[in-house]
Amino acid sequence: MGHPRGVRMYSPGVDIMELTLETPVAKLPLIGPTFARRLKRLGIETAEDLLYHFPFRYEDYSIVAPIVSLQDGETVTVQGEVSEMKNVYTRHGKKIQKAKISDDTGTLEVVWYNQPFLVRTIHQGQKVSLSGKVSQFGKNLVMESPDYEILKEPLAANHQQLVTIHTGRLVPIYPETGRVSSKWLRSRINLVIKPLLDQVEDYLPKTLIKEHYLCELREALFQIHFPDSKELAQNARKRLSFDELFLLQLTGLKTKGEWEKETVGHRLSIAKYRKEIAWFWEKIPFELTEAQKRAIKEIFADLAAEKPMNRLLEGDVGSGKTVIAAIAMYVTILNGYQTALMAPTEILAFQHFETISKILSPLGVKIGLITGSRKVESGVKGKGFNILIGTHALLSEKINFRNLGLVVIDEQHRFGVEQRAILRQKGINPHLLTLTATPIPRTVALTLYGELDLSYLDQMPPGRKEVKTWVVPAEKRPAAYGWIEKQIRQEGTCAFIICPLIEESETLATIRAATAEYEKLQKEVFPKLHLGLLHGRMKGKEKEAVINDFRNGKLDILVATPVVEVGIDIPNATIMFIEGAERFGLAQLHQLRGRVGRGEKQSYCLLFTETQSPQAVRRLKALESLHSGAELAELDLKLRGPGEVYGTAQHGLPKLKLTSFSDFVLIEKTHLAAQTIIKDDLGLDKYPLLQAKLKKATIKRVSPD
Ligand code: ADP
Ligand code: MG
Repeated sequence: MGHPRGVRMYSPGVDIMELTLETPVAKLPLIGPTFARRLKRLGIETAEDLLYHFPFRYEDYSIVAPIVSLQDGETVTVQGEVSEMKNVYTRHGKKIQKAKISDDTGTLEVVWYNQPFLVRTIHQGQKVSLSGKVSQFGKNLVMESPDYEILKEPLAANHQQLVTIHTGRLVPIYPETGRVSSKWLRSRINLVIKPLLDQVEDYLPKTLIKEHYLCELREALFQIHFPDSKELAQNARKRLSFDELFLLQLTGLKTKGEWEKETVGHRLSIAKYRKEIAWFWEKIPFELTEAQKRAIKEIFADLAAEKPMNRLLEGDVGSGKTVIAAIAMYVTILNGYQTALMAPTEILAFQHFETISKILSPLGVKIGLITGSRKVESGVKGKGFNILIGTHALLSEKINFRNLGLVVIDEQHRFGVEQRAILRQKGINPHLLTLTATPIPRTVALTLYGELDLSYLDQMPPGRKEVKTWVVPAEKRPAAYGWIEKQIRQEGTCAFIICPLIEESETLATIRAATAEYEKLQKEVFPKLHLGLLHGRMKGKEKEAVINDFRNGKLDILVATPVVEVGIDIPNATIMFIEGAERFGLAQLHQLRGRVGRGEKQSYCLLFTETQSPQAVRRLKALESLHSGAELAELDLKLRGPGEVYGTAQHGLPKLKLTSFSDFVLIEKTHLAAQTIIKDDLGLDKYPLLQAKLKKATIKRVSPD
């Protein structure tokens, strides 16, 4: 590449030669502690972070035109000398700023509104560059509120165009947050980009660069900020998107390779216990689906192998993952080992305890439960049980296992990498089975959880009726309430009412809102029905009591915060009423909807929204016709687009800056590329730069929690 242009000015005292990629932003030119703090909130702490903070679009100010040629309605850049600059008061007492600028061909009027301080920045006699729209006002053309830039160098005759960053080019626009403007970012990045790029080395193997027609890393990093043309900007984006997914996949595959190199876990015998396994199946009142059978076969093969299992079992809500976990645990126990099952919430831990006990207690299996509010008896501390079920309380140092052979983790994205590691360390290379109902497409799962083997349940148990789904506008609310009451009375079923998602976690504000809603509904809307309230801050015993009342029919309606999203199984519930539906992702709504439709009766999902946005309504309407989690997840990802992070916590997706998880083509490409690179070279010894880059990336890779 040619040398990047645009390095013109350094603040005194900062030795630009000493800059490295690791330099904290506070030490960069013209960034003080206040802005360093603001940048930190955007996740930018080092010079390298700043370099990797990318614009999401460009303002096209690239046409620099002589004043004489300007036309009404054009967006252009003019460069010339200021011949007049003043504040003027309008009749309404507002201040406007009027300027005149001249080049060799003519003079142009310029106006800004309510920026009186501008007269201190722009003076008569200065050379300036202005970009904006020109419009006809009476006889004159006027440029209104242009972006401006003072040109410090003398206009050199041999320069076609001056070095500018805010005008006269494709100007980068950054996602503006935390009071850090695009103009500010642009100017700071401009000051350091050249010396920083001198230190960037391209870690991507040359073969990949060639094979995928990618540009070089330095070129990409420069052009994404200050592109010379739209095409070059696009090439830059292509290269950096490739890197983003490639590195993610490579990390996963490398971890997987290292895991597989680990020595023997516990080789379990399956054939020896054929009889016992048959007894187990006699206890199960249904036929397994083909998908379930396939998953069990895969799991058995893993359990019987030398290497410890590390498998993700992914299946839509209600696809029947619990029974698969149960048989895996039973086989482990038969082989003389203990197992642990970790669930993300107390509610779910209780429920698993009940379900698993029902199946396995009659077979003589001893099952313990440990959650924040309910401990196993202190004398036992985990040792006396075959299965210990619990929340993250299982991770406590006080819990020890005699010989842990299998760890099952439900809703794995709710737990961080570290938490999973702690639980694993309670045994010696135990087998690991993680369950998730987060309906993400198979390709995406492979990318995200590249370190895991994947069993995918693509089939639902037979006889499930589709949950009839309606988007309900504000004016139909009273009618909807009436309909719910009638359904409950006539059908003897019960309903969930889910309060809006106020914040991503269960905050006090969420709970207050839910409590108020519950009281209002009980007093004013359903005075004759029995309502209950469930939220995340209730004590374990209270939650258990409410859920039991709901399950046993003592409650008609359960008003809940979005905590019920995961896993709870109430066959008699047939109505799911979701408030503020537009605040949820489609995949989340689908999970909530999965709480009903579990029994014989027809179930309903009412999505309540007050939004007027046709886009939001259209998005919700997708739920009326789509009933597969995978399809909805795909659509959800597409609609969100890259870089949009709201709701990723629920998805368990890492934050991508450039790419989108809906870009399946690039996902496949980068997956193959990563596989090729790592196939014969797990340590990446042939690619030391890539090795180093990955180490850095791994340290930075935040757990999705
Ligand atoms: P999830 O995959 O969401 O955890 P569960 O394991 O809770 O789903 O199963 C949902 C319900 O379906 C349970 O009541 C379970 O007993 C039942 N179930 C599981 N597998 C089958 C099957 N093959 N046929 C019929 N019902 C099944
Ligand atoms: Mg489940």
